[in-house]
Amino acid sequence: MTWVHEKLYPHWRQIYESTRIYFEARTEHQHLVIFDNPTFGRVMALDDVVQVTEGDEFVYHEMLTHVPMLAHGRAKRVLVVGGGDGGILREVLKHPVEKAVLVEIDASVVAMSKEHLPGISKGAFDDPRTEVVIADGVDYMARAEPKFDVIIIDSTDPVGPGEVLFTEEFYKNCAKRLTPGGILTCQNGVPYMQREELVYTQKRRKPHFADCAFFVAAVPTYVGGFMGLGWASHDPAHRARPVEEIRRRYQANPFPTQYYTPEIHVACFALPRFILDLLAQA
Ligand code: SAM
Repeated sequence: MTWVHEKLYPHWRQIYESTRIYFEARTEHQHLVIFDNPTFGRVMALDDVVQVTEGDEFVYHEMLTHVPMLAHGRAKRVLVVGGGDGGILREVLKHPVEKAVLVEIDASVVAMSKEHLPGISKGAFDDPRTEVVIADGVDYMARAEPKFDVIIIDSTDPVGPGEVLFTEEFYKNCAKRLTPGGILTCQNGVPYMQREELVYTQKRRKPHFADCAFFVAAVPTYVGGFMGLGWASHDPAHRARPVEEIRRRYQANPFPTQYYTPEIHVACFALPRFILDLLAQA
């Protein structure tokens, strides 16, 4: 038995007991380890930052996917940037989409997730609607076509390869790649621990979208309280859908969840005062 240290924050660490290492190597882009933990099951970390655990991945993957998908209501083409573990892709494919494109910079993350974390993707990579592109998301987003109804940025944090996915240039290109009425959602850290990220990403998205906001979810392994999920849309009506409409849409195409409900969909945009105060700076 060994201990794996998460070193995302300068003055705070999490330490996970590791009872078995399935894979550990430095890939072309980052250090990748997949190990077993008695509390959370299999865990993947990149550059010493926990990315996903079998135990609580449902929270993050359900919320970052179903909130935009059910707010939009008619998304046929979806783009996922990052997401190499396949969890977001799995949730996207529960909707009647025609195409789901996943752009992941690190082929090893996809390969090792398929091999050692099959319970996360659950066959999503093999769905006929899926297209996996191994590329830097910033380059892919700079292209003019194709357009997407929903874009989900399931990236690492703004350090290393993920840093480019938090720039204004990237968000400007995301805005261009969305169809009219499209929605962008982003992994945006834990506001209590990463206050600056919340403020500067809101500032960088605001010039390019009609509506920019955050919604929250409680992910046990993303330590520090609520996780902040970035929201940007070309149609402000999406964020104001009444719970009756979200319930109707969910019941028209029901699928099992462990965290998401139509009620949580509406409630998750209600933010604690300290987060509202941070956003007032943006
Ligand atoms: N749920 C996790 C979180 O909230 O931090 C993210 C999980 S997912 C494994 C993050 C993925 O983003 C990784 O597979 C990483 O390789 C990918 N990634 C980082 N930078 C990227 C970039 N510039 N383009 C595409 N994918 C990138």
